[in-house]
Amino acid sequence: MIKNDLIFKTIDLNIDTSCLPTPIYIVDERLLEKNLKILKDVMDRTSCRILLAQKAFSMFSLYPVISKYLSGTAASSLFEARLGFEEMKGKEVHIYSPAYREDEFDEIIGICDHIIFNSFSQWNKYKDRIRTSNKKIECGLRINPEYSEIETDIYNPCSIGSRLGITLENFKGNDLDGIDGLHFHTMCEQNSDVLKRTIEVVDKKFGKYIKKMKWINFGGGHHITRPDYDINTLVECIMYIKNKYDVEVYLEPGEAIALNAGYLAAGVMDFVKNNIDIAILDTSAACHMPDVIEMPYRPKIIGTGEPDQYPYTYRLGGLTCLAGDIIGDYSFKEPLQEGDILIFTDMAIYTMVKNNTFNGVNLPTIASYSEKNGLKIIKKFGYEDFKMRLS
Ligand SMILES: *Cc1c(COP(=O)(O)O)cnc(C)c1O
Repeated sequence: MIKNDLIFKTIDLNIDTSCLPTPIYIVDERLLEKNLKILKDVMDRTSCRILLAQKAFSMFSLYPVISKYLSGTAASSLFEARLGFEEMKGKEVHIYSPAYREDEFDEIIGICDHIIFNSFSQWNKYKDRIRTSNKKIECGLRINPEYSEIETDIYNPCSIGSRLGITLENFKGNDLDGIDGLHFHTMCEQNSDVLKRTIEVVDKKFGKYIKKMKWINFGGGHHITRPDYDINTLVECIMYIKNKYDVEVYLEPGEAIALNAGYLAAGVMDFVKNNIDIAILDTSAACHMPDVIEMPYRPKIIGTGEPDQYPYTYRLGGLTCLAGDIIGDYSFKEPLQEGDILIFTDMAIYTMVKNNTFNGVNLPTIASYSEKNGLKIIKKFGYEDFKMRLS
């Protein structure tokens, strides 16, 4: 217990660890606001608009905090759009999807103020429904500048054969009447030097079309709230496009909004020895941090080192029967004990939104932490949440 108290002191959370229901996501509102202030500063310096890409972080209990700073939400589907519409009242609701379902489109028209299409055929299919709706909706097209510096193919919207966005070849010669904006999303966890090189390509290829637009959306993937992010270059990029083309600029980062703002606390349940020491946790890579397997990457845990850096090394495994449900190998200064709590960092983004109940593993509790209220449990899950999605 004393060890856990030390851990919580390190991350400045004043929590009674003895009754902490693990696994539990804890989003620290102070850290979220620190990020939001950085983003607001970019908005103030450039008068650009920044949206929350809900795909990365949809913890709507904190939307009131987010809406104090940002312009609205970006959605990838009707459901995300509806969440933004309902929970971030009065703010902009943007949507982009590779294709829209006919049976959902009227509802999309009802709640979105910006609709971005992935192709001219989708735009032509739906433009009359938008026109006759009498709702003031701004329409955009996603372009594929065929330039990106992402090396992992599953995260690269500009890889050869990508279905995302319209290439210059396919863009040329089409009627742009009714189109207010262009959108590109070609980055992932990158700094503004990448944006600068991307803007050069977009400018060269699509400049003559940007001229006719009201706005351009630079998409997400901007790691603006990372300590080494070069904000001045971002500001330069935004101002360059704004001044050259007299357009509004939107950014829709997901990660940057809640980057490093949340933790996943998990408990140690048992130990297995099989050549190496293995600890079994009450969480799961497959269910609660799927990017650990999908990216893949090794999450950070407070107070741990690389294998063999400290005297006691363990492989940390999850609760499912998937052999590969492994979080990674970590070393500790003292032997782990049953009941110890481990704190995974940067667990607010791309976690809750990707969780699943594979193997019937329960979903982690969701909590927030603030100076004023301390730890606030927001949602607990149970059997009904598992059963509800099955039949
Ligand atoms: C994923 C995505 C985002 C958010 O990306 P982050 O890497 O989380 O900043 C924004 N816009 C679109 C179209 C996306 O697909």
